[in-house]
Amino acid sequence: MTNSKRKDVVIIGGGPAGLNAALVLGRARKKVLLCDGGTRRNLMAEQIHGFVTRDGTPPMEFRRIAREQLRPYEGVEVRDVGISSVERIASGFRVVLAGGDAVECRRVLLTTGLVDERPDLPGYRELWGKSIFACPYCHGWEVRDRAFGVLATSAMLLDFSLFLTGWSRDVVAFTQGGLEVPAEQRQRLERAGVRLEPRRIRRLVPHGEHLEAVELEDGTRVAREVLFAHPHQRQTELVQRLGLALDEQGFVRINERMETSAPGIHAAGDLTTRLQSAIVAASAGFQAAAMINHALNMENADAGFPSEG
Ligand SMILES: Cc1cc2nc3c(=O)[nH]c(=O)nc-3n(C[C@H](O)[C@H](O)[C@H](O)COP(=O)(O)OP(=O)(O)OC[C@H]3O[C@@H](n4cnc5c(N)ncnc54)[C@H](O)[C@@H]3O)c2cc1C
Repeated sequence: MTNSKRKDVVIIGGGPAGLNAALVLGRARKKVLLCDGGTRRNLMAEQIHGFVTRDGTPPMEFRRIAREQLRPYEGVEVRDVGISSVERIASGFRVVLAGGDAVECRRVLLTTGLVDERPDLPGYRELWGKSIFACPYCHGWEVRDRAFGVLATSAMLLDFSLFLTGWSRDVVAFTQGGLEVPAEQRQRLERAGVRLEPRRIRRLVPHGEHLEAVELEDGTRVAREVLFAHPHQRQTELVQRLGLALDEQGFVRINERMETSAPGIHAAGDLTTRLQSAIVAASAGFQAAAMINHALNMENADAGFPSEG
């Protein structure tokens, strides 16, 4: 294996977490390969919000600027390719890229994000990121005071309906038939002016790229401009195959060194937390990179810098 195929760190995933980690490790003079492949969760979003200096930036523009800022750091290589597998070897890890190329490294950083599983609801796919949102911090301001709907299929999501009244006082909670709403919760919703709609949704009615109404199973149309939903999320295939310990909500468990249950494999960003935003992921990428770099510098110093010998 040639030297260029031996890296200090392979970062898997080129969203805010991976890109920020590459920046920190590049500046710390580490040899880094960042690989990005697969689908991007926020691809359908028009703009990133809530990230100071980047408020309103389209996600692809964010990634372009980040990659441009990595260019001066000659230790950082970026490739648009998915990672198929990660195997432990005596000197660390062997990481196999889609296509069969392989790279050896001392540490792996997973920044693969999550996969949103969309409900089987006609119109949902087309409107996701345009009129259907998960996070009011990301999109609430742009749609303030509009007619909100919430896919409120659990008690937690009913609370979320109450929370959304901070952005609009016109909120309808669609409970999709199956949810028992206790009297006390009903009173709280009534007090806040949140209307409950127990009938099942047949489809979402678009007007161009935007939501016009929620059509119920009996054909009634409830005029709504925005729908908030929390689709089920799962880990990527690669992370599932690694068999890492997950918490009760399915996020990858990490310790204070941002290390997973597999020593030497670290993780940062959405795959580890419910607090999902670009700035939080970028910050976690910084932290993970700093932890990894600290460990590598100490290992090098204690071993008398073997790679320079
Ligand atoms: C519709 C929508 C709108 C959003 N809007 C905002 C907003 O306005 N403001 C905000 O702060 N946040 C927003 N978010 C959340 C934000 O996008 C995420 O919190 C953030 O992107 C997480 O960063 P990350 O680096 O952890 O993961 P991601 O950005 O998801 O990046 C993970 C990357 O890893 C890649 N990958 C996965 N598996 C592999 C593999 N095996 N090999 C190689 N690469 C792999 C994926 O293709 C992806 O590019 C939005 C999310 C969505 C879904």
